[in-house]
Amino acid sequence: MTVKCGRCGNQREPPQDIPYVGELGKRIMSGVCAECWKEWEDLQIKLMNEYKVDLSTKEHRDLMMTQLKDFLKLK
Ligand SMILES: [Zn+2]
Repeated sequence: MTVKCGRCGNQREPPQDIPYVGELGKRIMSGVCAECWKEWEDLQIKLMNEYKVDLSTKEHRDLMMTQLKDFLKLK
């Protein structure tokens, strides 16, 4: 099964084992390819270090969510 990726525009395999469930998880699985997801994971690590992200705070979780949607072109 492949999906049309909203970020790179290619028809590719979706990512495996994403840490999101529900509506967001579905949108990722149906609109992001594994390659772009991998890029996001790398970027996420950089952002976490750069901004000293603490995912136990809502503010930081919201920040990462905004970055994720922006990077993966999720509306
Ligand atoms: Zn892609």
